[in-house]
Amino acid sequence: MFQRSVADGVHRIEHAYVNSYLVEDDAGVMVVDAGLPGMWPHLVRALTRLGYSPGSVRALVLTHAHFDHVGTAAKLRREYRTPILVHDADRRLAAHPYRYLHENARLRYPVQHPGALRTLGAMTLAGALTVRGVTDVHSLDAPAAAALPGAPELLHTPGHTAGHVALHFPDRGVLITGDALVTLDPYTGRHGPQIVSGAATADSSEALASLERLAATGAPTLLTGHGEPYLDGAASAVEQALAAGAS
Ligand SMILES: [Zn+2]
Ligand SMILES: [Zn+2]
Repeated sequence: MFQRSVADGVHRIEHAYVNSYLVEDDAGVMVVDAGLPGMWPHLVRALTRLGYSPGSVRALVLTHAHFDHVGTAAKLRREYRTPILVHDADRRLAAHPYRYLHENARLRYPVQHPGALRTLGAMTLAGALTVRGVTDVHSLDAPAAAALPGAPELLHTPGHTAGHVALHFPDRGVLITGDALVTLDPYTGRHGPQIVSGAATADSSEALASLERLAATGAPTLLTGHGEPYLDGAASAVEQALAAGAS
């Protein structure tokens, strides 16, 4: 699913309950998060509709290196030499996208949350078990972020993973939260602003603490790693996520 202009110069691609974003400025376009392998045709189609090709993508930025955000990274790198940027603390995870820390056993979630069967089933069909890692990556730090399309401010938001970041575009009123705050948890099927459950979060209390950094942006629009855009502002989203707590 392609959703054009979810914010000024920002476009959403959704496939199998996972979001990628395209961010444009006068100098070109970047991809934020690479989805699952099945995202590929949707990514190419979205780029084409905006007048780009995969070869013209200036960078792939990873909010974090979980398998469901790295799915098309190896292909972009191998076939188009796209520069990939990830926070240093997630560099190892980018090479091994399944070797991540999580608090709770993953298998109990579909049993306790039958709603998750639909999301996890769709993710599996989209290639969730076949993601290849990437080793040839650049460090995503504040100066590197400032040189990207849209010149985002980088917010380090550890907890979901150690190297998780959010991207804030103050002049566009938009915050790309990745999985630091989502509006759909694929592991429970639950909707609404929240942190991702312990099935995929390394440290929930740290993830909850990182929410303050998102709230401080005061961004009107939040674009999440999973689920619909949130249009009622960062403060309200964070308030609900804190109330929802860890699961
Ligand atoms: Zn994640
Ligand atoms: Zn995710």
